[in-house]
Amino acid sequence: MSEIDHRSCAQVFARLDDYVDRELSADDLEQVQKHLETCAMCASEFRLEGQLLRTIRGKVRRIAMPPGFEARVWKRINAASDRTGPE
Ligand SMILES: [Zn+2]
Repeated sequence: MSEIDHRSCAQVFARLDDYVDRELSADDLEQVQKHLETCAMCASEFRLEGQLLRTIRGKVRRIAMPPGFEARVWKRINAASDRTGPE
């Protein structure tokens, strides 16, 4: 079993949306990137969430998105993945 720092996972999860938006500083970006390279769980989450976020954005482009909506979506995603865990 490989050792995974779950505090890093939490940090990466908290930053995934900023990572998708490329709003992280160079240091944070590198941290997240390195973690995604070593942690298969976060890497697959990143792919799923990145795709989902792009899909959501594509759809809501035509309608007005209430402020805080995206944050709530992320909260749900993170809560769901906490419960589901890796397969
Ligand atoms: Zn991780």
